[in-house]
Amino acid sequence: MSFEKAFCENLGRAVTPYEVREIYFDEDSERYMKKDLSFKCVDKDCRAELVPVGVYIQRRSKRAIHFRAKSVKDHTCLTYKGEEAGKSGTKTGEDDPFKMTRYPSELILVDNKGKSKNKITTPWTDEEIDEEIKNPSTHGDGSTSEWTKFGTKSFEHIVDCYENGNKEILENMDFTLGDKTKKFYKMFKNIKYFYDEKGLVYYGQVGLVKKYGDNYKIFFKDKVWVEKYMPVSIYISSELIDRYGKRKIFREDMEYIINNKDKKVFCYFVGVYPEPSTYEHNGKKVESLQVNIANLKHLALRFE
Ligand SMILES: [Zn+2]
Repeated sequence: MSFEKAFCENLGRAVTPYEVREIYFDEDSERYMKKDLSFKCVDKDCRAELVPVGVYIQRRSKRAIHFRAKSVKDHTCLTYKGEEAGKSGTKTGEDDPFKMTRYPSELILVDNKGKSKNKITTPWTDEEIDEEIKNPSTHGDGSTSEWTKFGTKSFEHIVDCYENGNKEILENMDFTLGDKTKKFYKMFKNIKYFYDEKGLVYYGQVGLVKKYGDNYKIFFKDKVWVEKYMPVSIYISSELIDRYGKRKIFREDMEYIINNKDKKVFCYFVGVYPEPSTYEHNGKKVESLQVNIANLKHLALRFE
């Protein structure tokens, strides 16, 4: 039995595994590297214990992070029918494979201080972010159903949906990013084809990471054809890393990729578009495509 939200006693409110991960790895947070939060079922009449799965693991795999019932038997919420969004699996299985049920309908891009950049266009208030809002929606066959909508600031959550979500749902659900609304899957573009459209989520396999002093450059494995084949890289300055709460694990991840060239790593980014740039290498001019990311919250790595 899996859960995508939990009631956190210490914080006195419901939390997502993404929030818990942010709190744990953020060096500016007072709970940095402290596993002292306890999690309970969100059902206020149940409140049986939940355990986080994958939340405290430093290098993210493709498996979505979530909560699991410590003991299914303790969940009084499971005795009645009608499972609410955010719970999945059978009522008896302790080891059910995790199935995602919470799909945000908007990614809210944030600045370095966590403030949303598109506050005017977004319909979500701060309280509504990551809280489902029930909206009756009409299907093509005339039937209506309650469809839940919510926005999130967590890019990790969006990437988890892409990698683990239900295909049919994601092919059909609308997803908003900045001024664009498209079907969820159509919002993702392999870096090889980034030239097709601006303003999407781009991803690809990492070829290598290079270190320049305290700065890093992530090179994608695939070169991209723009009149000729050009390398695509994301430039990450030391100052940018210092402004990021999860700076320690970010630097460790970069070093890990440098030292483990046989491991497959995938990189996703959003909110920025590759631009042509020229740099000097051994006295030769090299043309490349560079991604000048402004906030590391908009970059996600997945390790195989
Ligand atoms: Zn429960």
